Amino acid sequence: TSFSELGLNEKILKDLSKAGYETPSPIQSELIPIAVTGQDCIGQARTGTGKTAAFSLPVLQQLDFRRPGMQALILAPTRELSEQVAAEIRKLCTSKSLSIAVLVGGKPVRPQENQLKKGAQIAVGTPGRVIDHINRGNLKLGTLGFVVLDEADRMLDIGFRPDIEKILRKCPEKRQTLLLSATLPPPVERLANRYMQNPVMIDL
Ligand code: AMP
Repeated sequence: TSFSELGLNEKILKDLSKAGYETPSPIQSELIPIAVTGQDCIGQARTGTGKTAAFSLPVLQQLDFRRPGMQALILAPTRELSEQVAAEIRKLCTSKSLSIAVLVGGKPVRPQENQLKKGAQIAVGTPGRVIDHINRGNLKLGTLGFVVLDEADRMLDIGFRPDIEKILRKCPEKRQTLLLSATLPPPVERLANRYMQNPVMIDL
């Protein structure tokens, strides 16, 4: 398959070729055509498979860049992964009006708060720091249309389940939720059952 067969628009296809992406990886070929329709999806995929682009491209395609304010929240298990995801999104999207806030622990709160106040449309971060910003009133989830749980199995292993659930309960019911996980043990399935709507399973 080629990227042009996956339901992506011209602007995204142009950005992809600028980023040097020529051929979609298996998870991208399977997940993107379903996710661009707005459906909830569970993708079983490890790091290094191109999973970041697989969930980011459908979100970027559906995002309204002209509108400032929070539209997509991506939760990841670690600071490093959060930063990698943000870097990958910046690589994939040339739109100058896109603003991403990286909300991770071990970094000062203030610059993150400023990013949010300036109207960041995407937040990528670890559940603990995300909760912190919600509690401080910096991050409001009422306008969210997209939630991504990246490396869900690792987030649950670390013990983020209560934080993740607290966050998901504050998200609008009408939203798209994408979940990526290397493995799908019962705790991940329970999370999906509780917080996703008829998810399509992409199992490679
Ligand atoms: P990930 O599994 O999302 O961590 O991606 C692994 C690496 O592969 C990252 O450096 C991506 O920038 C790169 N990558 C992902 N998809 C593609 C693709 N279709 N073509 C070329 N490089 C890619």
